[in-house]
Amino acid sequence: MAIMHIRTRFAPSPTGFIHLGNLRSALYPWAFARHNKGDFILRIEDTDLERSSQEAVDVIIEGMAWLGMDIDEGPIYQMQRIDRYRAVIKEMVEAGLAYPCYMSEDELNKLRDQQMANKEKPRYNGLWRPEPGKDLPPIPGGVLPVIRFKNPIGGSVIWNDAVKGQIEISNDELDDLVIARPDGTPTYNFCVVVDDLDMKITHVIRGDDHVNNTPRQINIMKALGGSPPVYAHLPTVLNDLGEKMSKRNGAMSVRDYQKAGYLPDAILNYLARLGWSHGDAEVFTKEQFVDWFELDSLGRSPAQHNPEKLLWLNHQYIQNADAAKLAEACKPFAHQLGIDTENGPNFIQVVGLLKDRANTLIEIAEGAKLFYASAPNLTKDQIKENISEAIVPALKDLIEALKNADGTKESYSAAFKQVLAQHQIKMPALAMPVRYALFATTQTPAIDAVLVVLGKEEAINRLSKVVV
Ligand code: GLU
Repeated sequence: MAIMHIRTRFAPSPTGFIHLGNLRSALYPWAFARHNKGDFILRIEDTDLERSSQEAVDVIIEGMAWLGMDIDEGPIYQMQRIDRYRAVIKEMVEAGLAYPCYMSEDELNKLRDQQMANKEKPRYNGLWRPEPGKDLPPIPGGVLPVIRFKNPIGGSVIWNDAVKGQIEISNDELDDLVIARPDGTPTYNFCVVVDDLDMKITHVIRGDDHVNNTPRQINIMKALGGSPPVYAHLPTVLNDLGEKMSKRNGAMSVRDYQKAGYLPDAILNYLARLGWSHGDAEVFTKEQFVDWFELDSLGRSPAQHNPEKLLWLNHQYIQNADAAKLAEACKPFAHQLGIDTENGPNFIQVVGLLKDRANTLIEIAEGAKLFYASAPNLTKDQIKENISEAIVPALKDLIEALKNADGTKESYSAAFKQVLAQHQIKMPALAMPVRYALFATTQTPAIDAVLVVLGKEEAINRLSKVVV
């Protein structure tokens, strides 16, 4: 059997606000294509001119690039393929697969009201559908028709959804879909089918809000001589309160996460787990994810956004990151806080010191401020309040001990231990006033590590000012 060349696509409508959950719909088809050494296509479904925006397109493209979802073809804009859709519509009419329908809006409304009154499901009644031996009504003057697809009558559409299992919809449920509006512009479901066929898509992996469109799309596809792709309909991503994600209830875009100091790999790892799992793996690399990704490990129930978990993952990635790489990622955040990373302590060292406790790049930048601020100008009162007379002799001995330290963390630690033993005091009694003398705060990472970054001379200078 020939091995199928897998082709998947992400086909977003660039309308409204693009939140993180939207990009999950890009991640799975991307991973499936990569896993199978196939192609991943980005198609922008921008035919809704009123609601589509370039801003939304940019958010999608930038977000995907930031997260490392590389595309093989595209972005392909549907608006640039209108001629192709029109040509297919023309061919379908000529081949008797579609037909013009002159029923006016008014007539349609009347029909619907009547059907509702009879407790029937509202549907187009096939008035203009040509059938052998059937007389069509006379064409009204001055009315531009819509084009309707001749949906099969009888039987049903069956597909084996890779997530939801077998789905069967009776053709009686489906009326003749409008595929072109009176001005000739093609409608949404029709464009999707032409594209999926033209782009030779083998697997359609998309949100389950499209399950209802699928039988219609399959029928059109078959009428066009195509064989339907595998469909995998993903359950929605709900927000942390179990509601549909939207800007109104606080959903954030990828850009917002970037600005808030999240790492792209952490976000990708997080998104991967929103509806897919591999045993109990929670933290994994992008390569592992691609390696493990199979459609049959997609979840069937809605995934729920969990901001705490995302923060926890971000922390994992920050903690495990290489300090030099992390420092590069942190620089823009540090610069925003006015830190001159090129002057003062070595920024990589500073980041290395802070990364174990930080959840975001912003937290690292905040923590780094301490090391780039000039020596504190403590007032007499501040010194009196924070550095007791009783500890001054120990501070003086510490200055002496530091002079002999060789600049390593171990040597600073030894200097502290020596003074603690000499004065029979405990670490906090000494470390707190030292921190205050160095930075005018008692909140700093471990003091020996801090000294490595600050440097021996600077530390001794600052300490000397409070013991005179
Ligand atoms: N454009 C559709 C959306 O954004 C997706 C269509 C599809 O994947 O078939 O919801």
